[in-house]
Amino acid sequence: MGYIKVPGWCQNHINQAVPANRNLTFARHSILRMALWFMIPRNPSDVMDLEKGKKFGTFEQLVTVENYIVMLPIELDLSKIERLSIQRESENFAFRMFLKGLDSIVVDRKVHRLHREVTARINCLDCGNCCNSLMPRVEEEEIQFLAELDKVSIEDYTRDHLDEDKYEASLFIKSSPCRYLDGKRCTIYDHRPKECREYPYTHRRRFVFRTLSMISNYSICPIVFNIIENLKAELNFRHG
Ligand code: SF4
Ligand code: SF4
Repeated sequence: MGYIKVPGWCQNHINQAVPANRNLTFARHSILRMALWFMIPRNPSDVMDLEKGKKFGTFEQLVTVENYIVMLPIELDLSKIERLSIQRESENFAFRMFLKGLDSIVVDRKVHRLHREVTARINCLDCGNCCNSLMPRVEEEEIQFLAELDKVSIEDYTRDHLDEDKYEASLFIKSSPCRYLDGKRCTIYDHRPKECREYPYTHRRRFVFRTLSMISNYSICPIVFNIIENLKAELNFRHG
């Protein structure tokens, strides 16, 4: 099925937000369109644009209608994300405090849904940014696999490429950027360690108790950045 018919000013955003194969009924189209008219832009001047039906310049709100989510355009520009993370440092700190006042289960439900929506639109093989700084923990069978890949003994591999995390009693790959990163791509992607597969951990529970690490990943990982920005919009969070 095609995309929802919406006014031109938000067509691009809807196209990004709603998968092409979603079969929306007329009633659901109507609900979604109605909700779009009630979006509250962050910048007051955008209200004028919206009322005049002009192109909606800084589309910064997310609307939830039943299960249909209109999301902010996905941001993939790493330098922009890094710049915005500096600009929004105090906003993100305030957002952490704001989250702590909310029901953890309700926040998890929203974050997990956003996780599914955002990860469906981002290909890690085109990014690889976390691999520049992530030093993943490796488990016994992973070390064995990596040593076999290098055709060396487990002892030699451990000595040359791993370090010990004394607090967690675990071993991690000590090179940074990761030695398996080639450009933006992980050369062992199908066999990457569990910790790499789980990063950035936005599928895990108790998000409100892990906001410090989430905010530090915000500047590194487009998945985290887009989830947090959409979460702010969905929760109608305002700063300043
Ligand atoms: S093993 Fe692959 S996914 Fe994990 S940090 Fe290294 S390059 Fe990245
Ligand atoms: S997890 Fe995040 S930082 Fe790492 S490759 Fe995927 S999008 Fe990029």
